[in-house]
Amino acid sequence: MSEQTITVTLATEKKPKPDPSKLEFGKVFTDHMFMMDYTVENGWHNAQILPYQPITLDPASVIFHYGQAVFEGMKAYLTAEDKVLLFRPEKNMERLNKSNDRLCIPEIDEEFALDALKQLINVDREWIPTGEGTSLYIRPFVISTQPFLGVAASISYKFMILLSPVGSYYKEGVKPVKIFVENEYVRAVAGGTGSAKTAGNYASSLKAQQIATQKGYSQVLWLDGVEKKYIEEVGAMNVFFKIGDEVVTPVLNGSILEGVTRRSVLDLLKHWNVPVVERKISVEEIFEASKNGELKEAFGTGTAAVISPIGEFLWNETSITLNNGETGELAKKIYDTLTNIQNGREEDPFGWTV
Ligand code: PMP
Repeated sequence: MSEQTITVTLATEKKPKPDPSKLEFGKVFTDHMFMMDYTVENGWHNAQILPYQPITLDPASVIFHYGQAVFEGMKAYLTAEDKVLLFRPEKNMERLNKSNDRLCIPEIDEEFALDALKQLINVDREWIPTGEGTSLYIRPFVISTQPFLGVAASISYKFMILLSPVGSYYKEGVKPVKIFVENEYVRAVAGGTGSAKTAGNYASSLKAQQIATQKGYSQVLWLDGVEKKYIEEVGAMNVFFKIGDEVVTPVLNGSILEGVTRRSVLDLLKHWNVPVVERKISVEEIFEASKNGELKEAFGTGTAAVISPIGEFLWNETSITLNNGETGELAKKIYDTLTNIQNGREEDPFGWTV
């Protein structure tokens, strides 16, 4: 498969580029996209970079009925030296295949996919925005295309990559968010699909998010699906707490998505000799720690925001405020270090950037 070549068809008309100061998330797409097909007879084939355009699918395609689909999210950054950097992209390709496996989608050659991504970025290189905090968001995804209403794994697929210039997540500097602890709806259960990045997980998360938004909270804190006692994730991010001098994050349990940022924060903290543990954390423990003055900081981690400090939790009728609602020192330090590495402003001792 890796010997295959990619057919390149360039757009004859280029779209106007958006004003970098007005960029939002995921609304504008570059001039080109990557696409390849899977059939049982030919495996993954027909790799192409082509002008960004709508695709045509049979309305009976499996994707529309049973949601057999996976995706990834990553970013490319332009350095001051005009170099394009990707942050641990091999981790995303690896996770794509883990998701593929869970959803019975045929494996993709990770090296080939990364090579295709690099070629696509090169074609649309001038779309990478340059303003502070801006980047080129990358959305690889796989959809099931067989026209068949039986509940079974599709026998045909499309793997595509889209590129979207995005603005800074923090327009007015890193700002803590208010979090609603969700008691009724759950995101995932062990044995389900929580550790895969599949479309349905996000569809089923919308209801709780809508309620949290109505109540004036920006994200939901997801609890485990069995006892609704243990903390899993925050919105579409992993979550960390600083209790006393120790940093804790929920241990991967089969229902949590293994974030690339989560892994990087763990590595960074170990590198700094900050005590850090992965273990089960109950929401009760967090509220107790707050009462005792031991809860110093909390923050979410993910590609979009990198680090999202948490200023408040509401659980049932009780709310706690962290660090006077200000960004914690540790969150700020991790945010600065990671974004400096991602943007090539600081030496990368881990070899994370490509
Ligand atoms: N959890 C969920 C449910 C997510 O969608 C994401 C975003 N991919 C994350 C965690 C964070 O993962 P990453 O650090 O790889 O972006």
